[in-house]
Amino acid sequence: ALTIGIVGLPNVGKSTLFNALTKNQVLAANYPFATIEPNVGVVNLPDPRLKVLADIFHSERILPAAVSFVDIAGIVRGASEGEGLGNQFLANIREADAIAQVVRGFADDDVVHVEGAVNPQNDMETINAELQLADLQTLEKAITRYEKEVRGKKLDPSVLDAAKAAQDALQRGELLSGSSIDLDPITELGLLTAKPFIFVFNVDEAVLTDDARKAELAALVAPAQAVFLDAKIESELIDLDPEEAAELLASTGQDESGLDQLARIGFDTLGLQTYLTAGPKEARAWTIGKGWKAPQAAGVIHTDFEKGFIKAEVISFDDLVATGSVAEARAKGKARLEGKDYVMQDGDVVEFRFNV
Ligand code: GDP
Repeated sequence: ALTIGIVGLPNVGKSTLFNALTKNQVLAANYPFATIEPNVGVVNLPDPRLKVLADIFHSERILPAAVSFVDIAGIVRGASEGEGLGNQFLANIREADAIAQVVRGFADDDVVHVEGAVNPQNDMETINAELQLADLQTLEKAITRYEKEVRGKKLDPSVLDAAKAAQDALQRGELLSGSSIDLDPITELGLLTAKPFIFVFNVDEAVLTDDARKAELAALVAPAQAVFLDAKIESELIDLDPEEAAELLASTGQDESGLDQLARIGFDTLGLQTYLTAGPKEARAWTIGKGWKAPQAAGVIHTDFEKGFIKAEVISFDDLVATGSVAEARAKGKARLEGKDYVMQDGDVVEFRFNV
């Protein structure tokens, strides 16, 4: 499964946030096939459509899609030089598909700030600089090797060019994920700043309710997306029943929990989407990549569905709700039979036809 690595300076609230993520025990029970490791937190992707489907189909249970987060030990200035956990830390980040950077925005004199003062911009620069330095080291070694291989005509020069372009961008202080360089020739290097980033601002209520301040912080990280949450409140929300949780959220001016936001934005940042299936047993969201075609999407349910794919009967969620049932949707011509070149759309309610 695709995972998002959580990074940040010490004392910014990573563990507090991660504890909230891992308290989602319900999920672990729903996904018995997924070995839940101690440093992995799994969160539901909120999807109100599933409840609607479950009502239409009288489904026994609802299975939402999920997003995994990996807790990566705190980063400190000098990590790229082997300070603190150094190389092990970098290896862990390398395995993540996207990076969620937790940035401290809460003021609390009892919690020491490693860099002396609460300053989100400064903190992000510290982290980014470590990741950029690590990438520059990787690139320097690779470029030496690539140059030899190009001279020996064992490597296409475009690979060397891509590596040099990336090096230039980093030296200008850029993150590779925001640059326009074609990094495909050098994916094997697993460059850290080439991964998509999400910025999680761990703030207190004063900021949560201050739209101008939030817009300021979001602008610092654009085009990457920003999530604002209070990690302490998130860890309390998890223990409340839905009504109490909604009340607590409303009291801090929010209509969605930070974890829900994080799951939604994380899912999007990973380039994922879902399609839906429903029946008396379950209403379920299946995770696929954006742009996937019907047979590949069918393969997420079972490899046999992909191998023996014939057709997909697709009804859009909105059409299904408007008509009220599959039979009615068929009668009104809203059920489409799609072939192997059909590109899946978000919210497709699907039944696959296949040979065994
Ligand atoms: P980590 O080192 O990044 O994992 O940070 P921790 O999660 O251990 O948090 C460091 C300290 O900050 C702990 O004492 C937390 O209780 C406190 N803390 C974390 N999040 C918040 C928050 O949103 N508000 C306040 N006031 N304190 C927080």
